[in-house]
Amino acid sequence: MDEFFMKRALELARNGSERVKPNPMVGAIIVKDEKVIGEGYHEFYGGPHAEVNAFRSLNGSAEGCTIYVTLEPCCHYGKTPPCVNAIIENKIKRVVIGSIDPNPIVSGRSVNILKEKGIEVTTGVLEKECTDLNKEFNKYISEKQGKE
Ligand SMILES: [Zn+2]
Repeated sequence: MDEFFMKRALELARNGSERVKPNPMVGAIIVKDEKVIGEGYHEFYGGPHAEVNAFRSLNGSAEGCTIYVTLEPCCHYGKTPPCVNAIIENKIKRVVIGSIDPNPIVSGRSVNILKEKGIEVTTGVLEKECTDLNKEFNKYISEKQGKE
């Protein structure tokens, strides 16, 4: 089941494609009783993150739900407030992560913050696919920078 929902999150992530540069593509879905009740992706650079868009798409509460995210949620203030805060505030019960954020200011830290709050965290679901999504992106960015 985790892989099934992560696959859906990956499909969503790809919708962001070119417009999220230089941010990574990220998809998120919120699941309640094995049903998708909310979904979102990082749509454009500087815009709300996938997790936030997923929460915004909800009709009701996310309390007790599971959120699937292709990339570890952020825990620092960038252009938007940290997504770990949104996950905690929305009373999510379980977080399923595809790949850990390679960014050293996040890497594994968000997982620890969530666990400290008593949230169940599963990592490495479709990790290769989720990492590959960013690998292509990273490769593209470095090639682009080389030209400029
Ligand atoms: Zn975020």
